[in-house]
Amino acid sequence: SGNLLEVKGLKKYYPVQKGFLNSTAGYVKAVDDISFSIRRGETFGLVGESGCGKSTAGRSLLRLMEPTAGEILFEGRDITKLSAGELRKQRREMQMVFQDPFSSLDPRHTVERILEEPMIVHRTGNARERRAAVDKLADVVGLAKSQLQRYPHQFSGGQRQRIGIARALALQPKLIVADEPVSALDVSIQSQVINLMQDLQHEFGLTYLFIAHDLSVVKHICDRVAVMYLGRIIEITDKHSLYAHPQHPYTKALLSAVPEPDPDIRKQRIILQGEVPSPANAPVGCSFHTRCPQAMEVCRKERPPLLETDSAHFTACHLYDGTIHSQLA
Ligand code: SF4
Ligand code: MG
Repeated sequence: SGNLLEVKGLKKYYPVQKGFLNSTAGYVKAVDDISFSIRRGETFGLVGESGCGKSTAGRSLLRLMEPTAGEILFEGRDITKLSAGELRKQRREMQMVFQDPFSSLDPRHTVERILEEPMIVHRTGNARERRAAVDKLADVVGLAKSQLQRYPHQFSGGQRQRIGIARALALQPKLIVADEPVSALDVSIQSQVINLMQDLQHEFGLTYLFIAHDLSVVKHICDRVAVMYLGRIIEITDKHSLYAHPQHPYTKALLSAVPEPDPDIRKQRIILQGEVPSPANAPVGCSFHTRCPQAMEVCRKERPPLLETDSAHFTACHLYDGTIHSQLA
């Protein structure tokens, strides 16, 4: 199939003490039964507010943390079933770029060592071949050869993220999970790093899962976007449908916060009421009902399923699933 990755029913629950984060159940459903697939060569956005479970989903699907349940098919093979040894080999194909490149780069090592490390760990090539590969990596992300003997603290935030990206490329992966790769950078630097990621995608045929907390960052880079709220995906569609015809009230609220350069497109800012509820004690029914401007009686009782509400457009909301019509009938 054209899918590089298929995620089916992924869950990540954490045990917590009762009372913690208002927990009544004794666990937090950080990721609660999400399913999606990523096509080869595409950039798939996973977007939601802080605490919605998007980073946990990204790490779980690389098995950097163990999922509680679900299947993760990489090129058709369920990686949740792999042994530790098989998983180590599989990791070459799936790499991560972190939000904060500074804390993910070892401060005691030179850039040269940092870029060589994954190849040493995975026993790739001999010393001379690895050095040549390091030079190439530095070159493709725009670092000068003379910078290879420096340490992470000697670089700006944008340059450190270039180092983080180069390290992720060292094993020639197919999939890169990028967890808010530009959120910690100045706005002026963000587009440079995003442009670099797009160039690298074309050059190396990469597939990206791009995690972000707002919809403005993913607007230019993503082909399709999934919006998460309290551990669940509430809308998935291609970028054009999402921005032109958002359906879920939460997506509409997130989009209303995206700056619109075109003055002809008037948008009314939707201010959501209340705080995001604790993921340890999510509301029953539609978990967004406590903040939704369009909440109805049914929303407090029944959880809306994620349904195909328009061509290749999936939404979990009772406004679109026929519930209202059946109530009126
Ligand atoms: Fe709002 Fe109801 Fe739709 Fe949930 S199901 S988003 S509460 S209208
Ligand atoms: Mg996060």
